[in-house]
Amino acid sequence: MKAIFFDRDGVINDNSQHYYTHKIEQWTFNPGIIELMSGLLNKGYKLFIVTNQGGVARGKYSKSDIVQLHLQVCNALKEKGIIITDIAVCPHHPLIENCLCRKPQPLMLEKLIARYHIDKAQSYMIGDSKSDGEAATQAGIKSIIVPKNKDVRQQINHIL
Ligand SMILES: [Mg+2]
Ligand SMILES: [Zn+2]
Repeated sequence: MKAIFFDRDGVINDNSQHYYTHKIEQWTFNPGIIELMSGLLNKGYKLFIVTNQGGVARGKYSKSDIVQLHLQVCNALKEKGIIITDIAVCPHHPLIENCLCRKPQPLMLEKLIARYHIDKAQSYMIGDSKSDGEAATQAGIKSIIVPKNKDVRQQINHIL
C-alpha cells in the first residue's frame, strides 16, 4: 500500500490567521487541497495526517480539542468522498518536555508505516517546513516541501 503523509497546518489548512488552530471556526482548507486529496486517492494512495501540536504541551488547547477538531475535519472531507486513514499527533513541546515523536523525528511516520504496511518506496510526505522533510528522510520516504497556504497541485503533479 502506498501512502501520502500530509503535514497539517500550512498544508491542509490555512494557518496565516491562526497559529494555534484548534477549533473548526479557525479552520479553512487551503485552495486545491480537496481536489489534490481526491486525485491522490484515485491514484491509489492512502492518506494520512502527521502533525506537531505543541500547543497542547504549552496549554494553548487540549488534546480533546484536537480530537474534536479532527473528527469535524474528517467528517467534512468524508462529505467530499475523501477518507483520511489515520492521523498522528505529537502533543509535546521541547520547551516543556522532550519526546521521541515531534517532527523532525520520524517516529509518527514509522508507526503509521508499520501499522498500515506502507510501501516506503512509493510513499511521500508533503510538508511546508524543513522538519517535515527531515522526518521523511529519517523514516526512509521521499518528501515534497511546498509553499505555505497555497494551491500546491502544480508541485505534486508528477505523482498525480
Ligand atoms: Mg506546517
Ligand atoms: Zn511528541
